[in-house]
Amino acid sequence: MSGTRDLDRRYVFHPFSMAQTHEQGGAQMMARSAEGCWITDDDGRRYLDAMAGLWCVNVGYGRERIADALADQARQLSYFHGFSSMATEPAAILAQRVIDKAPDGFSKVFFGASGSDANDTQAKLVWYYNNVRGKPEKKKIIARDRGYHGVSVMTGGLTGLPGLHAGFDLPLPMIRHVSAPHNIWTRHAGEDDAAFSARLAQELEDLILAEGPETVGAFIAEPVMGAGGVIVPPEGYFPAIRQVLDRYDVLLIADEVICGFGRLGHWFGSPATGMTPDLISVAKGITSGYAPLSGVLVGDKVWQVISGAGAAKYGVFGHGYTYTAHPVMAAAALANLDIVEEEGLVARAAEMGAYLNTALARAFDDLPIVAETRGKGLMAAVEFARPTAEGWQRFDAAQTVGPRIVRAALEDGVIVRALPNGDAVSFSPPFTVTPEEIDLAVSTVRKAAGAVCDALR
Ligand code: PLP
Repeated sequence: MSGTRDLDRRYVFHPFSMAQTHEQGGAQMMARSAEGCWITDDDGRRYLDAMAGLWCVNVGYGRERIADALADQARQLSYFHGFSSMATEPAAILAQRVIDKAPDGFSKVFFGASGSDANDTQAKLVWYYNNVRGKPEKKKIIARDRGYHGVSVMTGGLTGLPGLHAGFDLPLPMIRHVSAPHNIWTRHAGEDDAAFSARLAQELEDLILAEGPETVGAFIAEPVMGAGGVIVPPEGYFPAIRQVLDRYDVLLIADEVICGFGRLGHWFGSPATGMTPDLISVAKGITSGYAPLSGVLVGDKVWQVISGAGAAKYGVFGHGYTYTAHPVMAAAALANLDIVEEEGLVARAAEMGAYLNTALARAFDDLPIVAETRGKGLMAAVEFARPTAEGWQRFDAAQTVGPRIVRAALEDGVIVRALPNGDAVSFSPPFTVTPEEIDLAVSTVRKAAGAVCDALR
C-alpha cells in the first residue's frame, strides 16, 4: 500500500463507508487528477466517471476557467461574510443570475455550503413562517420514502432511507413519510399514471388529516428522486400533490440539489416535472462541485411573511452560516454558469440523456434480472430484482447484487453507484459526456450485470 493510501486508511473517517473494513483494507480507489469525464488514480489508471462524482460535476473535471475564477477571487477578496447586512459583489451577482433562471415567483436566495444545510434552512424557514403567521402548531414536515435530503439531524430524518436513521435515533419526532411513486414497488398492477398519482395524493391527504392539518407545515420532494433510485414521477403526480397541499395550507419544498442547473435537460427540475414549489433548494450543479455552495430560493408567498411587519417581533433573522454567500464559492458558481450557458450544456444534457436512456433500455432488455431501466435527462438507473411467477421480488440484501455489479464495473474502469435502498445502479455523467463514453459505460455495466446474473443461477 502506498504511503498516502496508508495515511488515508489510518486517519480518514470516510462517509457512507464501512468503518472497520476501511480501516483494515483502505481505499477502493484514490483519485489523483481528472479531466472531462475521466479520473486518474494514484497508480495512473484511468476511470470513466459515469456519476459526475456525486451527481455534481456537470461541466466535467479540469476546467481552467473555474480554477482561475477561484484563484482570482481568493487573491482579490478571499472571504467576507453576509451577517448584519454585509455584502460581497460575487454573491450579489450570483443571486441575480440564479433568480433569473428560477421558475417565476422567486425573488431571494439564501446561500449555504451543502445540500444538507440548505434543507435545514428550509425546515427553519417553514417553522419561522408559521410562527410569524401565528400558527405555532404547524411544524410537521412530510417527506417520502427513499427521498434523499441530506444527513444533518433534521435532514437525515427527512431522508427516507432506513440506513440513515438506524443508529442515529432519527427521524426527529415532527417528520413523517409517504410512499414514493416507484413503478416496481408501489405502483399497483394495471394502474395508469392518473390512477397512481391520485392514489398517492390520497395517501398524502389521509396522512395530513390523520395528523391534523393545523400541525403540518410542509411537504418536501425531489423533482426526480436521485439517491433513492432515480424515480421519475408519473404524469400528473405533482399537480395532484399540490392540490392536496393547497387544501390544507401546506408549503411545497422542491429539493433540486441534483436536478437544479440542468441535469434533467432544463435549468430547473420543478417545471420539468409539473412541480410548483414555494421554496427550492439547490447545491451541487451550481458550482459543478468545484466549490461547496448551496442556495435556498424563497418564493414570494413566504418572503412576504418573513419580511413583513409580523416578523418584527423576532428582530434580526437569527440564522446564517460563516460561509453564507462566500465570495470565492460564488465566483466559482459564476464561472460554472458561464460555461453551462456558453456551451449550451442544458440542451446537451437533454440530448445526451435521451441517448443514455435509449442505450440502457436496449442493452439491458434481455437480462432476466432487470425490473426496469428508467431516467430523465442525464439521470438514469437500472433496477435489478428477482423475477417470480407473482412478479418482481427484491433480492436478499446479503446477496449485494447492486454493489457487486458496481464493483465489477469499477474493476473494468467505469464508475457508477449502487443506490442505498435496493439494487438500483445509477448513471449521472457530466453534461459534456460523449455518445462513445455513454456506450462504454453502458456496455461495461451490462457486462458486469451479466456476470453477476450468471453467478446467481
Ligand atoms: N438533497 C439531495 C436531492 C441530494 O441528492 C443531496 C446529496 O446527494 C442532498 C440533498 C444533500 O447534499 P449534501 O451532501 O451536499 O449535504
